[in-house]
Amino acid sequence: MGRPARDLITVMFKHGEMVTINDPLEDEMALEIAMELGVDLEIEHEADFEDTLMDRLDRRDEDFDVELVQRPPIITVLGHVDHGKTTLVDRIRTTNVVDSEAGGITQHIAAYQVAHNGSKLTFVDTPGHAAFGEMRARGANVTDMIVLVVAANDGVMPQTVECISHAKAAGVPIIVALNKCDLPDINEQKVLTDLSQHGILPSEWGGDVEVIRVSALTGTGVDDLLETLLLTAELQEYKTAEDIPAEGACLESFMDEGRGPIAWSIVRRGVLKIGDIVSCGQAYGRVRAMYDDKDQELTVAGPSTPVRIAGLSTVPNAGSRFFVMDDIDEAREIAETREDRGRAAVLATRGGPMSLETFFAHRDGSIQDLPLILKADTPGSIEAIRHELEKFEHDEVKLKILHEGVGGVNESDVYLAASSGAIIIAFHVIAEDRAEALASQEGVQIRRYKIIYNVTDDIRQAMEGMLKPER
Ligand code: GDP
Repeated sequence: MGRPARDLITVMFKHGEMVTINDPLEDEMALEIAMELGVDLEIEHEADFEDTLMDRLDRRDEDFDVELVQRPPIITVLGHVDHGKTTLVDRIRTTNVVDSEAGGITQHIAAYQVAHNGSKLTFVDTPGHAAFGEMRARGANVTDMIVLVVAANDGVMPQTVECISHAKAAGVPIIVALNKCDLPDINEQKVLTDLSQHGILPSEWGGDVEVIRVSALTGTGVDDLLETLLLTAELQEYKTAEDIPAEGACLESFMDEGRGPIAWSIVRRGVLKIGDIVSCGQAYGRVRAMYDDKDQELTVAGPSTPVRIAGLSTVPNAGSRFFVMDDIDEAREIAETREDRGRAAVLATRGGPMSLETFFAHRDGSIQDLPLILKADTPGSIEAIRHELEKFEHDEVKLKILHEGVGGVNESDVYLAASSGAIIIAFHVIAEDRAEALASQEGVQIRRYKIIYNVTDDIRQAMEGMLKPER
């Protein structure tokens, strides 16, 4: 328009819109301002690939006009450090692959498939629950079920609680593997009690969570665990469209000296074939070769198959979703547009409310959950804040505590917030350095408090649009 921003803001103020230079301008408002300033304005919209893609990726399987087939469940193993995740994962892998390979598998593997009693299960090996949250924050939510490993001799630990919060936020069934049952001096009842206190009620106590006693070290109970996973999968009926162009997510990626960029991925639906044109994050290309978890070449990869894809233009980010397209030029264009837009675009497409101010700016009159993560210095503080938050009543907003814990804000908290659009309340604690950096990168708001009432006051003020910006 050739006018300074200040002029536009003045017009907006006259219309009762209290905006800053950083607020987006709706079409209607833009036209109105133009009229008042006597400027001829024509609005053209760029065709937005991302929107079309998101629509496609968000389509339900039932919307495709093809038969749905059973697919193997995709399982992620989470748990407190040293409770035996790696041992369990190795145990499952080595006892359920063909003999010639047993023992020879030591290198890290992002995902693999095993067969048990003729049924397949796919395991995703994330390097921890923060990484699990990161994948969700990127929109690559591939997990169907979570195995929560809890060492029977150690019980529920802080990271166990973080894992539970991540699992719940993801809304997937949890199966508890009560590990190290070979050890003497374990107190199962204590562990079960602690689990119940964190909302994991064992089925033997009338709840809906299966607790399987295992020893990853000796292998006892591992078959039981696999059977329970298959049974749960059967109940959940994981079905998907097969006869469609493939879609999935990249779990990890790396540059292979001989093979070029490799995207370690999981097919979510459809069948991926050699020669398919693929778009994946900022990468695109034709599938030149595919390898399974045992480095065997594949020509096709169906739903729930872990597959390493070669043939992409560059190394895509972990958590990027991939899908097959018809036209290589279009795939290139998407990759280039994404590269130009960069990180901001990723944040924009995710669209979650990330700060108190924006949450309330986007109110639409319906009842909305305001997800919160609560970190504080002592259990007493947490209790007190929760008590205060529970008293909070409002027609339009429901406060929802996704996770609470004693200690500084860590990376797990930030990823949980990023993937759930939550705000982090830090009471008498600060964020760990890396978490702080991550929060600003992910656009997650960490609000620090020293006085309990200020927490609810701020929420109330934000609702009235009166919240002063944080310094
Ligand atoms: P992670 O950090 O959760 O991956 O735990 P690891 O798999 O590395 O296991 C930590 C330690 O616990 C290792 O020394 C394992 O040998 C030991 N461990 C794992 N599972 C069992 C088990 O079932 N019984 C016993 N006694 N030790 C176990």
